Amino acid sequence: MRFFDRALVNGRSIRVRSTEETDGDFAHGDADHDLEARRRSVIDRPWVWLSQVHGDGCVDVDAVGFESACGAPADSSVTRRTDLALSIQTADCIPIALWSLDGVIAAVHAGWRGLEAGVIETATRSMRTQSSAPLHAYVGPSIGPECYEFGAEDLDRLEARFGSAVRAKTNDGQPALDVRAGVISELLRNDVVIEVNDDVCTACAGGFFSYRARADTARHATVIWIEES
Ligand SMILES: [Zn+2]
Repeated sequence: MRFFDRALVNGRSIRVRSTEETDGDFAHGDADHDLEARRRSVIDRPWVWLSQVHGDGCVDVDAVGFESACGAPADSSVTRRTDLALSIQTADCIPIALWSLDGVIAAVHAGWRGLEAGVIETATRSMRTQSSAPLHAYVGPSIGPECYEFGAEDLDRLEARFGSAVRAKTNDGQPALDVRAGVISELLRNDVVIEVNDDVCTACAGGFFSYRARADTARHATVIWIEES
């Protein structure tokens, strides 16, 4: 498990955890009691989870309520609440945790489709309706460009939008997407301070699930919450 803690104002702090293969499968299923136990072992409080659809939808948990937020077809969630945790699940896509120093947090699922749909802009805009403080980011493990062969047409379009850094090559010289470069570009464009950029590759580093490399159906969880002290 990857750990990140940061102090906020008023004695509070944020906690971010991003699980690895040895932490188990966090893909959500029907009445999966093992999943509940795994979640509790990371943080024992209610988890907001999403039916991720590779779009730009953002759920304001404080507006819709916990019950409606869970399973919503969206790719980011935002809250000020200190009694729950926000989660997303990934295996190759990029997990992002966002926070403001005055205590608005978000969890974002960003694959290339979500990136292109504008998921980062939508999430940061939602946070800024609740806070004028600077936004900070933890960017978790995902598939690296050396393992991510990508179609030329899609690559041209993403390069035009997010800059030449997204164009890369695989280990065997094929056109590849550096989706992390696109995420970083988009975070900076939205004035987010990047505190952690954990660029270990889920496909080739070992110790991670990878949909692309191994057709894994299991998922990592990345979760963010606020501690009161
Ligand atoms: Zn790799």
